[in-house]
Amino acid sequence: MSTETFVSSHPATGHEVGRFPITDSEQVERTVESAANAAIWWQALGWKARESKLLAWNALLTQRIDEISELISNETGKPVSDARLEATLAIGHLSWAAKHAHKVLGGDARPPGLLMANMGARVDRVPFGVIGVIGPWNYPLFTPMGSIAYALAAGNAVVFKPSEYTPAVALYLSSTLSEIVPEVPLLQVITGHGATGQALCRSKVGKIAFTGSTATAKKVAAVCAESLKPMIAECGGKDAVIVASDANLALAAEQTVWAAMSNAGQSCIAAERVYVERSVAAEFIRLSSQVAETLKPGSDAKSSYGAATMASQIDIVEAHIKDAITRGGRLVMGGEESVQRPYVYPVIIADVPEDSIAMTEETFGPTICINTVDSIDEAIRLSNESRYGLGASVWSKHHGDEIASKLHCGMVSVNSTFAFTAVASVPFGGVGDSGYGRIHGPEGLLEFTFARSVVSRRFKPPLSFTTFKRTAKTDSTIKRLVKILHGR
Ligand code: NDP
Repeated sequence: MSTETFVSSHPATGHEVGRFPITDSEQVERTVESAANAAIWWQALGWKARESKLLAWNALLTQRIDEISELISNETGKPVSDARLEATLAIGHLSWAAKHAHKVLGGDARPPGLLMANMGARVDRVPFGVIGVIGPWNYPLFTPMGSIAYALAAGNAVVFKPSEYTPAVALYLSSTLSEIVPEVPLLQVITGHGATGQALCRSKVGKIAFTGSTATAKKVAAVCAESLKPMIAECGGKDAVIVASDANLALAAEQTVWAAMSNAGQSCIAAERVYVERSVAAEFIRLSSQVAETLKPGSDAKSSYGAATMASQIDIVEAHIKDAITRGGRLVMGGEESVQRPYVYPVIIADVPEDSIAMTEETFGPTICINTVDSIDEAIRLSNESRYGLGASVWSKHHGDEIASKLHCGMVSVNSTFAFTAVASVPFGGVGDSGYGRIHGPEGLLEFTFARSVVSRRFKPPLSFTTFKRTAKTDSTIKRLVKILHGR
């Protein structure tokens, strides 16, 4: 048994939040075993009891929203008000998952077809048992809750490996559920580094729900492949914003800057690339600068956003800014001097070459690249050229839905930003390097179950073909029937 520990601390002040054990693979296995027993108990409770316990948990989290927001702020460095918004979104999802699990997963009758008319057919949705959740640090409550709430509502127990930057938030979450469900360890947290996450992938969990970088997702997928373990991969993005000439420019600029810079730009669905039509480009850039000029990072309540949670991310942000400028990008606001560790002040760069890393790779900082296009078709083409395909937003008074329908990504907000995160009934996830599988909504509930088809005989069939006693007459009747049904 490992006795090693690590600490998490406030990214700006360095103040230690707590010291946590590094869970080794033996402990991970034992945790998963106890979770498997918890899952049996949880499933035996039935839909109604599970719903009421999850809603009681949600009520407790709501009562303690200030406490948990403070903790999120301490470990991530984000302002408490942003942390509270994050907690509010997580609470909304837990409520939705709890209330809709029975309806979405409670069994589904299917028509058996004419040839099998004597059979009843249905599809059960069966929980995997234990789900291993691996979470990131940028939204340490909201993001894992997108898996945890839906996995629990579907009848699973959860073993959660949080990011090493945010273990205290995870432990707080599991301790509040223990208050509501003291009988069994329904949500257990294993703290540690990458090796602990890897041990979880190798353990006997039924499925892994991973959120983090594309590079780590590939490592996780490789380990899962050893045992054909299914997984969900929620990875990064390089989200595009399309601003058409008929857009409400002031609103588009205000919300795009927010989408790019809130949470210090550390959102997988952050606005990172803007494609704006030429006729309105100058005005959009002017309005965006006006908004960004008012922003100030810091660690007090008045700050627009906080420090970079992971100090090493600042090197990446700096490299992206440098590359964009070196390749001819035009600085509209800020520049290399905007990097003042642990903070990054707002940076806006225009006319950035499409092959600059600032345009191709996830920056995860409070920066935005704004490029001018000659047509919406060009904006769509460039948006779709990324190897990522997580989210996008479209600003157009008359063509928003039409543009959205041509985007190769998992989620689009039209004349709004991040809107799909707050609508619990729609799925969240991406394509390409942004991953696969979905959390949230009915699709998110389905992910944490597998389909079991049950087809049962209701009465004696007029024709029996699953028998060695099948006659020539039966064969010819079947042939005639198939021709009538499918041959014309
Ligand atoms: P990682 O992908 O490194 O980590 C995500 C989670 O996976 C963490 O809990 C991490 O643990 C764990 N992990 C690390 N290695 C392994 C492994 N081999 N097997 C199993 N689990 C593992 O993301 P980071 O948090 O380091 O952030 C790096 C980049 O990821 C960012 O620059 C950003 O681009 C992207 N990102 C995207 C997010 C999104 O929501 N799409 C969220 C966060 C980051 P530990 O923290 O202990 O290493």
